[in-house]
Amino acid sequence: MDDASAIRPIRIEQASPSELGITWSDGRESRYAVRRLRLACACAHCVDEWSGEPRLDVASVPEDIHPLKIQPVGRYAIQIDWSDGHSTGIYSFRQLRALDAEE
Ligand SMILES: [Zn+2]
Repeated sequence: MDDASAIRPIRIEQASPSELGITWSDGRESRYAVRRLRLACACAHCVDEWSGEPRLDVASVPEDIHPLKIQPVGRYAIQIDWSDGHSTGIYSFRQLRALDAEE
């Protein structure tokens, strides 16, 4: 375990219909456009496991996509049930921090 893996969300909230907010254990506050999170899904349905090529049709993701349910996965990730019926995506804390840093 390195330092980065010890950072975890202490609060996750739907900040607005289109934004998810995460407060981290190191005090950082991240905001994510929820559609962008949906498009960043790295599960086997959305990204080819072997080639890494995207399989998700961006046009198929509704503009008003939003999380229906968010639950923790172990101590390293969250799993999101989306309003388009997609629920196999797991977002590691590391991935979420990286996504935040890109904004
Ligand atoms: Zn997916």
